[in-house]
Amino acid sequence: MESTLKKYLGFSHFRPYQKEIVEQILEGKDCLVVMATGSGKSLCYQVPPLIAKKTAVVISPLISLMQDQVMALKQRGIRAEYLSSAQTDRSVHSNAESGRYDILYMTPEKACLLEASFWSRLLDSGICLLAVDEAHCISEWGHNFRVEYKQLDRLRDVLSNVPFVGLTATATEKVRRDIINSLKLQFPYVTIGSFDRKNLFYSVKSFDRGNAFLNEFVKEISTYVDKAGSILIYCTTVKDVEQIFESLREAGIEAGIYHGQMSNKAREESHRSFIRDEFYVMVATIAFGMGIDKPNVRYVIHYGCPKSLESYYQESGRCGRDGIPSFCQLYYTRSDFAKADFYCADARTPDQRKAIMESFMAAQRYCTLSTCRRKFLLEYFGEKCSYDKCGTCDNCTNIKKESDMAREAFLLLACIQACGGHWGLNLPVDVLRGSRSKKIIDAQFDKLPFHSLGKELSANWWKALAYQLISHDYLVETFRDMYKTVRVGPKGMQFLKSCSPDQQPPLYLPLTPEMMG
Ligand code: ADP
Ligand code: ZN
Repeated sequence: MESTLKKYLGFSHFRPYQKEIVEQILEGKDCLVVMATGSGKSLCYQVPPLIAKKTAVVISPLISLMQDQVMALKQRGIRAEYLSSAQTDRSVHSNAESGRYDILYMTPEKACLLEASFWSRLLDSGICLLAVDEAHCISEWGHNFRVEYKQLDRLRDVLSNVPFVGLTATATEKVRRDIINSLKLQFPYVTIGSFDRKNLFYSVKSFDRGNAFLNEFVKEISTYVDKAGSILIYCTTVKDVEQIFESLREAGIEAGIYHGQMSNKAREESHRSFIRDEFYVMVATIAFGMGIDKPNVRYVIHYGCPKSLESYYQESGRCGRDGIPSFCQLYYTRSDFAKADFYCADARTPDQRKAIMESFMAAQRYCTLSTCRRKFLLEYFGEKCSYDKCGTCDNCTNIKKESDMAREAFLLLACIQACGGHWGLNLPVDVLRGSRSKKIIDAQFDKLPFHSLGKELSANWWKALAYQLISHDYLVETFRDMYKTVRVGPKGMQFLKSCSPDQQPPLYLPLTPEMMG
């Protein structure tokens, strides 16, 4: 195996997990491979065909990605090709059927369209595996559900004795189970690598939209530009992409642009120029995504809260693939948090909607977190984390000022509890600030003892405190029919029990910028 690895791919050693996975596939076992971006998943399906001398069929969602991989493999003397609905070259078809390729890529649409006769001829020639790359696309719980992926289960009946291999970089427990069920994996060999990208530094800043911030942002980017590496800026809308692109250009910073409203040709050109280092800053929507195997991306900067923590992990994971220290920075503004409806527009079932909301909420929590960001990310993906501070995220390295906020926390928690614990944040904050809105009068919350006790502090200050209390588990956020609600959690109840209206035990919390400003 090592000599095959060396001969064809030029590597002297397998990385962790790769060899075991290749062995399992060669023994005919189904596999589920969950490993971080950049950990070397592709090799797991590239080596078996070279050893077994049979074709590996690889399902991959993007033509551009397949083209890149096919080109790279051909350069190494590996017989690779791809089939898509757009691929009209008949000879590729007949070569494929007669097993003349080591690795045959295809889109999921194409895989479902191919006739039974194609598969039976290819089976006669020999198939050593069927790999499904980006397998999370099969799950409605994933952040990238694709209908075409769902139909891949048909192939299981056609290729009943071929080992199936699902590969993904992003999988929570639910998604994992979904992949196994949808691909009908039989007693699969499951590999879950660590999600910890040790060379990445995580940080988050909040901002207010406007020209002042834009100037500051561009100035900051200009200090990062360095020909040794690239900067990838992700925006949540095409409008933001265009605005930032323009601002960079005005500041004399050469950049590329990429979004879904550009023509295919323009997008391909932009992608290619980025890969070839013709410019060092790329401004894009998340349409610029899968298959960016560029080793020297030094910064991935998000301008706006991402739609899910899964996608944040994947997008930010595109930096530092070469193992050199790199930076994942996120800029968010509170108005980003109101986009839930927008993201839910794609949902077709209540379950899907719930999944979208939950992962969007996790992304929001990541933004407002005051504890270790790495620990939060890892635990979200089900990984146990033995430390409280990683030392390589902003929250672990910034020495934050803390202040005793026992009285304010008491007021907020008690007020949320008194209002029934089934509202969003606005209502209890309004009560504390002495509002007499119709809603408050109707519910008689103006009669609560807490009414107007917190009017000397701004609504944003109270919300910032609430986010702190959420990230320290005093408050719990949940969903009710699309609305986010907060209630006092067990830890908050414990705290309330130890308080009296005029005396509370100390509760030190970090002062966030909103609280100081
Ligand atoms: P993934 O699909 O998990 O994101 P890739 O398969 O694209 O990761 O691999 C990431 C990088 O690591 C690629 O540049 C690949 O050539 C390299 N790589 C993979 N396996 C090895 C290995 N055993 N030794 C050295 N480099 C490797
Ligand atoms: Zn940390």
